[in-house]
Amino acid sequence: MPRPMTMTEKILAAHAGREDVAPGENVWVDVDILMTHDVCGPGTIGIFKEQFGADARVWDPDRVVIIPDHYIFTSDTKCHRNIQILRDFVKEQGLKYYYDPDFVQGEGMPSPYADPTRTSYKGVCHKALPEEGHLRPGEILLGTDSHTCTAGAFGQFATGVGNTDAAFTLGTGRTWLKVPPTMKFSFHGEFPPYLTAKDLILAVIGQISVSGATYKTMYFHGEGIAALTLEDRMTLTNMAIEAGGKNGVCDVDDKTLAYVRRRSTRPEWAVQQDDPAAEYCYEFEWDLAKLEPLVAKPHSPDNRDTAHNCRRVKIDRAYIGSCTGGKITDMIMAARILDGNMVKVQTYVVPGSTEVHADMKRLNIYGEPLQPGERSVEQVLADAGCMIGGASCAACLGGPHDTFGRLNEPLTCISTTNRNFPGRMGHKEAGVYLASPLTVAASALTGKITDPRDYVREPILTGSAGVV
Ligand code: SF4
Repeated sequence: MPRPMTMTEKILAAHAGREDVAPGENVWVDVDILMTHDVCGPGTIGIFKEQFGADARVWDPDRVVIIPDHYIFTSDTKCHRNIQILRDFVKEQGLKYYYDPDFVQGEGMPSPYADPTRTSYKGVCHKALPEEGHLRPGEILLGTDSHTCTAGAFGQFATGVGNTDAAFTLGTGRTWLKVPPTMKFSFHGEFPPYLTAKDLILAVIGQISVSGATYKTMYFHGEGIAALTLEDRMTLTNMAIEAGGKNGVCDVDDKTLAYVRRRSTRPEWAVQQDDPAAEYCYEFEWDLAKLEPLVAKPHSPDNRDTAHNCRRVKIDRAYIGSCTGGKITDMIMAARILDGNMVKVQTYVVPGSTEVHADMKRLNIYGEPLQPGERSVEQVLADAGCMIGGASCAACLGGPHDTFGRLNEPLTCISTTNRNFPGRMGHKEAGVYLASPLTVAASALTGKITDPRDYVREPILTGSAGVV
């Protein structure tokens, strides 16, 4: 009789060929998908060739996914070179899943895609992975990016690894993992219209600190999580790493299954769930009615405060984008506040993927297909004075000096991104406040950090946006 296990323990046991596993055990597991991008891909390929030989072949060309996304819209030639290294490797190995930025050619700043529906390029890897059918419940995903944990929203084990570990998996299809203990965070009650998943995860990280979940699983649970869209659940699991978490997970439900059935590149997967007697190393419960819109002040994601307390903080810039805050539901939430108003500060909008960008053109601010005479999400944002860039990581990670939205001066910025360490978005003396798309949009309108309750009185429904 196997011991009662959590979802993470069950996934690791199944991939280790074991009946059960316990926290603290080291296990060899088979990996389902390995993902890399333009920043870490070249280094991973270099180590792979060094260790396995110049003529080595990857363990399974259909299970390696390469998604350039970080330094795309820049004239920096080193960034262009990285993409060429990926192209050469994909050709050499016959990899099936590669999403080329077909507009990066030669020298100078590449022009963004003319039509987001007609490019092989996808945008931010964590958003493109589910869109392109690479995430399934019960699987193990490794990625050379710390926010690979985002994929746990789909009920799988997903974690970031370094280039050396990734190179080992490239050659063998396996990895060695210590089974993490699980922390359970439950959210109860009706979801208030002024909150988003960003407020929930800032509440969690503010409580346990940036090291509070070190090498642990963060399990997000309760009717508050069930009420969220899959896209908003991705914001929760995305930021598990900001508390040091090994991975983050949400339960699989009908929303998950509908999305995966429609998109998956493989027909079968195994849904795992926590046993009723599963053990947790920490449990905490929140009453959603008592939570307020939150921000993380400079310079740490655990520097939690309420938006209301920060209402006298003047901002120079607002930024809506990244794998945390650049999804179509984030864009709709921002657009509902900005509709019919004008921003008071420079406001940069960066779609998380070309699919998000296409949806911004295709959908109205209720998340439904455009009808004659209606304005699209993109048009509403543009009419409010926002500047809209091409899908990519853009200024979330600072990037080269010519990156769209980069903080090249010591500005104060409110952002839907996930990290606010010094220099993260560019200038080392810039101050970044992390917040939900509602709080960022409300602040863009006033030029000060603004509690979105001043603007949101009823639930913001996002319709069909991001559903399947
Ligand atoms: S959007 Fe930001 S956090 Fe997400 S993968 Fe890109 S750089 Fe990392």
